[in-house]
Amino acid sequence: MRLGVYGGAFDPPHLGHLTAASDACDALGLDRLLWIPSAVHPLKPVRTAPELRLEMVRAAIQGDPRFAADDLELRRTGPSYTVDTLRALRQREPGAALFFVTGADNLADLPRWREPDQIARLATLAVMSRAGDQLSADPAFPAVPVPVTRVDLSSTEVRRRVAAGLSIRYLVPEAVREVIARERLYGGHSR
Ligand code: ATP
Ligand code: MG
Repeated sequence: MRLGVYGGAFDPPHLGHLTAASDACDALGLDRLLWIPSAVHPLKPVRTAPELRLEMVRAAIQGDPRFAADDLELRRTGPSYTVDTLRALRQREPGAALFFVTGADNLADLPRWREPDQIARLATLAVMSRAGDQLSADPAFPAVPVPVTRVDLSSTEVRRRVAAGLSIRYLVPEAVREVIARERLYGGHSR
């Protein structure tokens, strides 16, 4: 089994995440892609409660049999280190080939993560990139390039729009927009 691992804050998940994840499944021939929201991000503070980010991920991927949400990092206390997550998955799915799917921006940070060479040993690194992207070719951490139709969108932009009272329709799945509205996330009224 070919198992993809897609980690992030997902605050909130958006169409950029979904299209890239779908392309990664095709390009890497994945049987399944696990979306794993981080609890405490070691490098970046996240305000939204982890349980809500998990709920939004579930809402975003519902109905797609290739995707599953995993609360592995939420059940662990302390910061979410990728290396611990990959070790846990290796134990849980001993027969699976693991693919750690990440964006080019994240991969450039890899040397600063905990035990980067163990990460590269436990999983094949797959970096989502779009034509023209600068791939940081670090020879210590070879990565399989995954061409994606990237949507130029970030969670930061979604949060900014909500705070400014602008619509986020068509940028996030409707079910995600409903959670944001219900919980009044990001300091605004999403319309
Ligand atoms: P923020 O703006 O808060 O940094 P984000 O949109 O970058 O949020 P993250 O949760 O940080 O979302 O990202 C999770 C993963 O998704 C990362 O590997 C990131 O590179 C990737 N990613 C984020 N946005 C896109 C996009 N538009 N297209 C493809 N990949 C993306
Ligand atoms: Mg980001």
